Amino acid sequence: MKRVFLDNAATTPISPSIISMMSDMMANHFANPSSSHYFGRESKNIVEQSRKKIAKLINTSPGSIFFTSGGTESDNMAIQCSIANLGISHAITSKLSHHAVLYPLEEFESKGLVKLSYVNTDKNGVVSLDHLDELLSINDRTFVSIMHANNEIGTIQDIKKIGDICFKYDAVFHSDTVQTVGHYNFNLQELNIHFLAASAHKFHGPKGIGFIYISDDIEIKPLMLGGSQERNMRPGTENIYGIAALAMAMEEAYSNLEKDIIYIKSIKSYMIEKIKLEIPGSIFYANSEKMEESLYTVLTVSFPETEKSEMFLFNLDIMGIACSGGSACASGVSKGSHVLNEIISNAKRPGVRFSFSKHNTTEEIDYTVSKIKSLYSK
Ligand code: PLP
Repeated sequence: MKRVFLDNAATTPISPSIISMMSDMMANHFANPSSSHYFGRESKNIVEQSRKKIAKLINTSPGSIFFTSGGTESDNMAIQCSIANLGISHAITSKLSHHAVLYPLEEFESKGLVKLSYVNTDKNGVVSLDHLDELLSINDRTFVSIMHANNEIGTIQDIKKIGDICFKYDAVFHSDTVQTVGHYNFNLQELNIHFLAASAHKFHGPKGIGFIYISDDIEIKPLMLGGSQERNMRPGTENIYGIAALAMAMEEAYSNLEKDIIYIKSIKSYMIEKIKLEIPGSIFYANSEKMEESLYTVLTVSFPETEKSEMFLFNLDIMGIACSGGSACASGVSKGSHVLNEIISNAKRPGVRFSFSKHNTTEEIDYTVSKIKSLYSK
């Protein structure tokens, strides 16, 4: 059966050059970077060269990059360490944040350690800058966590403007950039940002490796204890293969960025036009249809109600199409996406997120749309 992978916001296939680099490294470099002998120094060098490459790509100093197990850990580190170490008594996020942000913040709130406010968002998920300003003006030292781009509906926030507002109130600003690092250019010299989070598997690297950027003016203690790795910030023997792969995936992503953006945008546009033509009545959630206001890798669609609405994703999976999302009703699971449930007005319409990579083709889109259309034929 033909299989189409349109779930690249969940994860991306690993680049073949990275797989071969990693297997070569696994065969030839096994030493612990903390060992002082030749083998250890070699491993340490791999870690530090990788850190330098990454820092250069986002225009910051290597000292502000710390390797972690990925986005969830980086988000948790920023949140938990800020609240524990920076005299934070108030936190602001949006209801559309990833659970890696919402759950730790809600946990701190439930323990009475922080007051949690949710900044208003419009019907497309865009944060109200006026409301953010207002929330910051009436509270004590605040931690703000606003994701750069939403993984489910693709909405992009202006993190330059948000950072400037946070700066005005001396707030600590964290942005979950897991969906945008490797897909958009970053110049950290131009952003008022204290923490950002990245994860290699979102841009053709392996799972279980990522980094957190911590700006030089922030002093926090480590989240975990047990070793002096990562300059005392993140204990545990370094995942040297993952670290080298993360750096390589970032280099590959940024060296082909302009070309890949043009190509992936063309795939997304093609799918938008095809859906409009073949499945009238479809609505594009949030700003998903607008290329500059949403992730070019994500298209979130509300399809017209059908008797197959309940098992829409299941039906697509049976026909070989991998995608995700969906309201409680449409996905066939008991609890739907907290993001779509926040945005959707009619839960009976199936909500589906398609997410693209450079590997997708227009033929795959033709196949996908024809199969969706078949769900509407009697
Ligand atoms: N934040 C966002 C926006 C994500 O899309 C993801 C991944 O799904 C994460 C955080 C978690 O990243 P990881 O899978 O590396 O823990």
